[in-house]
Amino acid sequence: MIYDIVIIGGGPAGLTAATYGCRAGKSVLVLEKESFGGQISWSPKVENFPGFVSVSGAELGDRFMEQAMEQGAEVELEEAASISAEGKVKIVACASGAEFRCRSLIIAAGAKPHMLGLPGEAELVGNGVCFCAVCDGAFYKNKAVAVNGGGNSALQDALLLSEKCSKVYLIHRRDSFRGEARLVETLRQRENVEFLMNSSISALVGEEELRAVVVKTGEESREIPVEGLFVAIGHAPDLGAFGSLLELDEGGYAASGEDCHTRTPGVFVAGDCRKKTVRQLTTAVADGSAAALAACAWLDR
Ligand SMILES: Cc1cc2nc3c(=O)[nH]c(=O)nc-3n(C[C@H](O)[C@H](O)[C@H](O)COP(=O)(O)OP(=O)(O)OC[C@H]3O[C@@H](n4cnc5c(N)ncnc54)[C@H](O)[C@@H]3O)c2cc1C
Repeated sequence: MIYDIVIIGGGPAGLTAATYGCRAGKSVLVLEKESFGGQISWSPKVENFPGFVSVSGAELGDRFMEQAMEQGAEVELEEAASISAEGKVKIVACASGAEFRCRSLIIAAGAKPHMLGLPGEAELVGNGVCFCAVCDGAFYKNKAVAVNGGGNSALQDALLLSEKCSKVYLIHRRDSFRGEARLVETLRQRENVEFLMNSSISALVGEEELRAVVVKTGEESREIPVEGLFVAIGHAPDLGAFGSLLELDEGGYAASGEDCHTRTPGVFVAGDCRKKTVRQLTTAVADGSAAALAACAWLDR
């Protein structure tokens, strides 16, 4: 069988693309390598997705999936390992050896936040360990938090958190920041922000929930009580396997037009793996719908 659209990635962008593609009458297959729903499934509470006052990430992911399947999307738990073209047909080869053929392809493979690599960190994601102050900052109102990182994301996270949290420790392993000097200056004026330079987090304290971080400065270590840790040391997509058909920037994100069309005719990109400035659920689903509608127009041209 040759599908009209194969979608790589079953997160919010990919599942939204599937819903739109099916509703336009196209045959659609979604390939997901880990779990349908994508990275939002890590979040216990989402309060900024329109239409839901508060919802768990897992429930939201399930609803995206249910809606796509209700519209007729086929889904397979498969890891896409490479893509190639045979005339007008694109072939997705999977790690399992399975192959799927399609006329158009939407890559919605997401991006993963870099983690510190500390024991217990993965278990504390959503229970103190966070990657996005815009998403989760509101849960730490009047509480002490730490931000780890030295770029603009860390500085912007610290600024946003300083408006709600009782205390913000900004922890950076070097003696100066990579981010904008203007942001650093604004943070220096905030009484509730404390800079811990030449410092790194060596351990997380807490089992069910984060209670403190252990910060190492030179030979000295001290435990700092915080309820939230915002890790802001970068995100990265994993598009290497598809690189020959895409134009990737220095961070590995795929370039596209506003309609999500890449430099390869019939290949689209959507969601967090796309080169853009805001990576949120709303922008992922917006990309999913734009990519699917552009793919449909391309198929019908
Ligand atoms: C803990 C946490 C909390 C968050 N909270 C919020 C929030 O409150 N509000 C908000 O707006 N945003 C939040 N975000 C960000 C939001 O989750 C992302 O912006 C959104 O999920 C991006 O959707 P996506 O579909 O582009 O990518 P993803 O959700 O990353 O989905 C991509 C999917 O593609 C799959 N995949 C990757 N490569 C392959 C392959 N080769 N073959 C098959 N499948 C593949 C992955 O397994 C994944 O399931 C949060 C993120 C995290 C981690």
